[in-house]
Amino acid sequence: MTSIHNARYGWPHRRLRAAWAPYVEAGLVDCRRGVDCLAPVLRLKPGEPWDLGHPDETCEKPTAPEHEACNRRTMSRARRAARTKRGKRATPRRSKAW
Ligand SMILES: [Zn+2]
Repeated sequence: MTSIHNARYGWPHRRLRAAWAPYVEAGLVDCRRGVDCLAPVLRLKPGEPWDLGHPDETCEKPTAPEHEACNRRTMSRARRAARTKRGKRATPRRSKAW
C-alpha cells in the first residue's frame, strides 16, 4: 500500500507542488475540481490545505491544485467506482473518456 502511494506521489509530485505553491499562496488559483468542488469558494485561499490533484476517473483535468477535502473525497469515490465497475466489465485504462 505504502510503496504504491510513494511511487505515485514521489519527487516529481513534490516538485510540481512546489511550482504551484507561490500561485496558491498569492490567491491566484481556483480548485481544479470546478463544479465538483466541495468548498464554498472555488478559489484556494492562501494558507488553506491543498493537494495536487491528478487526472483520474472522476476528473480528467490536468494535474493542478485542489482543496485537500476535494482530493480526499475523490480518492474514496474512485475506490467506490472501481469496486462497482468490477461487477460490470473490465474496461482498459484510457487516457481520455472521449
Ligand atoms: Zn475544491
